[in-house]
Amino acid sequence: MKHKVMRAGRRLVLPLILVNLSGCASLQAVDSGIYQVVDAVSEQDRVTGQRSLSLAGRSEQIRQGNAVVEQLLQAEAQAGRKLNAQLDSVQYARLARLLDRVLRVSHLKSERWQPVLIDRAEFNAFTTGGTYIVVHLGLMQQLTDDDELAAVIAHEVAHTVANHPFERQGFQTLAALTGSRSAGRDGYQAAFTHENEREADRIAVLYAALAGFDPAAASHIWARQYRAQGNAGGLFFHTHPVNRERAEETAAIARQVSGYYRPGRENPNAAALLEENVLWHKSNPALAAGQGGGVAALLGTTLGAYVQHQGVKQEVSRQAQQQAVLAALMQQMQPLGETVMDQNSWKVRWRYRGQNVLDHLVMGVLVRDQAGKVQRFVAPVSGTVAPGQVFDAQFRSPQLSVGAFASMQLKYYVDDARLR
Ligand SMILES: [Zn+2]
Repeated sequence: MKHKVMRAGRRLVLPLILVNLSGCASLQAVDSGIYQVVDAVSEQDRVTGQRSLSLAGRSEQIRQGNAVVEQLLQAEAQAGRKLNAQLDSVQYARLARLLDRVLRVSHLKSERWQPVLIDRAEFNAFTTGGTYIVVHLGLMQQLTDDDELAAVIAHEVAHTVANHPFERQGFQTLAALTGSRSAGRDGYQAAFTHENEREADRIAVLYAALAGFDPAAASHIWARQYRAQGNAGGLFFHTHPVNRERAEETAAIARQVSGYYRPGRENPNAAALLEENVLWHKSNPALAAGQGGGVAALLGTTLGAYVQHQGVKQEVSRQAQQQAVLAALMQQMQPLGETVMDQNSWKVRWRYRGQNVLDHLVMGVLVRDQAGKVQRFVAPVSGTVAPGQVFDAQFRSPQLSVGAFASMQLKYYVDDARLR
């Protein structure tokens, strides 16, 4: 029965995570024919100076990445949807202004980027490896704080800076070439994306500080998501860091770079700090071609891909462990009954039969209504939960009518917990 819960949950929840929680889909869009292994080139990683695998030089990346966005623009026009300033002149000007400030302190400051505002309600923004950043109007409206909007913009710019849209393609090719079995496995792609998200977060928090935006703003976004939605994915392989980890990690980076932050204005040493800062320093300049540079490049690429491969494998096993822990915890929760509280909420009582004291316990539920529509809700449990303790979790949502409670299918799970 527990297996059923897991399987159903996986099928039902993943699309929710991708659509609603990612806030970012930069890796989805680039799909054109750059699988040509013969065209493989490596290029120097802009951030650390190390080599990373890439199948296209920057101008080719821009051409391919922008072509994807231009297709989208055409489709929007054909569907009669407004764009940019015509859609919302105030929000578009705000987007352009913040993008400009972030880009100026970034590794791509020599490029001219174009913001694109589209008429969509979901919390989302993405880049495709070119010089566009596409932002949904809904995200702009939800993030009324400029520091928070700048955090999202910086994160998207960072994906392109770190070469993620193209690295992934190169990596898949490498995996195919070397016959890597793990690369084809369940969870591997999610973990690869997950590690890119963490890297983009690190770079973005630094950019925010250098541009004069509160570097802690990213952590505020994720802390808020966590309060509202829990982790949403600890039970499943996930492409993005779960909300609590993401809030904690971005907060820690913000503390590291806080010395660079000049509220409201650019750090005068921004250019030098890009090269050398508390997060990374550039390694020695690569040898020129003919002086061993070609060999160094080749070795660097192979090694870099290998190291990344190991990192991704570690993340796969870390996520698998998290899933196992959360699933095991759910089996230790003995249900003692459900009580309808009012029109929009109900309470569930459990006895915890495990061995460890639990902190940060968040119970989750998947609700399928009569029409087959599935929604997910979480209920944080306050304080710690000791072995043997009886506790209540109250699920509440204005979107839910408990009047139909008897006819709803409920699947409970442990969304988050920290073992003491
Ligand atoms: Zn991202």
